Amino acid sequence: MQLYNTLSAEERAIMIDDAGKQRLTLSFYAYAKIQDPQKFRNDLFIAWNALDALGRIYVAHEGINAQMSVPAENFEAFRETLEAYDFMKGIRLNVAVEQDDHSFLKLTIKVRHKIVADGLNDDTFDVTNIGVHLKAKEFNEILDDPNTIVVDFRNHYESEVGHFKGAITPDVETFRESLPIINEQLKDYKEDKNLVMYCTGGIRCEKASAYFKRQGFKNVYQLEGGIINYAKQLKEEGLESKFIGKNFVFDNRLGERITDDIISQCHQCGKPCDNHTNCENDGCHLLFIQCDECKAAMENCCSTECLEIIHMPLVDQVRLRTGKQVGNKVFRKGKSENLKFKHSGDLPETALATAQKQADIRQKIKVKKVLLGKAEHYYVKAQVGQFTVENHELNSGDKILISGPTTGDQELVLDKIIVNGAETQSAKIGDKVTFEVPFRIRLSDKLYKIVN
Ligand SMILES: [Zn+2]
Ligand SMILES: [Zn+2]
Repeated sequence: MQLYNTLSAEERAIMIDDAGKQRLTLSFYAYAKIQDPQKFRNDLFIAWNALDALGRIYVAHEGINAQMSVPAENFEAFRETLEAYDFMKGIRLNVAVEQDDHSFLKLTIKVRHKIVADGLNDDTFDVTNIGVHLKAKEFNEILDDPNTIVVDFRNHYESEVGHFKGAITPDVETFRESLPIINEQLKDYKEDKNLVMYCTGGIRCEKASAYFKRQGFKNVYQLEGGIINYAKQLKEEGLESKFIGKNFVFDNRLGERITDDIISQCHQCGKPCDNHTNCENDGCHLLFIQCDECKAAMENCCSTECLEIIHMPLVDQVRLRTGKQVGNKVFRKGKSENLKFKHSGDLPETALATAQKQADIRQKIKVKKVLLGKAEHYYVKAQVGQFTVENHELNSGDKILISGPTTGDQELVLDKIIVNGAETQSAKIGDKVTFEVPFRIRLSDKLYKIVN
């Protein structure tokens, strides 16, 4: 039985494009008592793999924490796989407001000691005694109360591109660091102030609120479903956003725009920018903010050192990073003295610039194409290829793309097509088509129509 990925990310990306079906990016978590996390993990892998669900999921004795991409048409079937477990009946799924079919390209489910690295000893406090959950509207109201202190329980690189106005944004790289810092900073306000907290999807606040209640804070509140769910409610209910900028997310999008305000700078040139990127050097993987100009000039690298490294032969690159344990991480968080415009401490409350509307949030120029069918034969002497149309239709005059591992990507405009042996204008599903192809193609090469 297959329990692990068999496709590479690149292969998966091509499959998703070829399928041409809409996918939903979503996240959820649940605290529970899971007896056998390994079995739970394997059962989920089998159920989700069958639904073409992808994502990064952590399971532990204490529960599950998942960020995923699911085909829209399988959404209800996916929900059923969750509801099969008592502790996930009626679970809230946080669906992203900005969609990207490539948000996840693998299904990775890991068994961990904990579902969030909070560094807390759960035996020392009651993890079920949590703060009051607030919906977006209620959250906005409590932020207007002068008696409220609002704390961002995400890491500094997340707050940097977007946060709630007036929030305390601890200068930390991990969640576990922020808990004692905030406890010390707010120790005089335990009795009378509202301690209001938020994070990306709500999971960090579940533990943090219980921890702060144990520390003696009387009035503890948390944003239900985090910023992801807040953004969704803003849209649905037409509420004013008290969050400015972008919500950092842990998938290939690296961010979801909530308002058009850009509140951060490119770490290399200082220009207003809030696009995070991963250093291209596999031995570095530093997560930092980089504008399009610096991206082009630096070829996605964080420093001239990394730029030199990526131009070395691969064997030398591998030798350089041996023993450096960073290459297999999703990304490396942290500061680097190479980044002149990386700020610490307090973050601005005002926009430095306004974001331009973007059709494609990954900012890649993509050729719009639809998959028509596959190559079945190539007549070498005549330079003619034979294909069967499996989707849509093909017309003479169409611009096409033939793609395969050996053939590469080759574009062509069709002057003349022969359909089921006769010259005609159009081929439909099921038709066998032949036409001249001035280069060698291979069996199973894919035939696409380019639409612009
Ligand atoms: Zn720049
Ligand atoms: Zn680097």
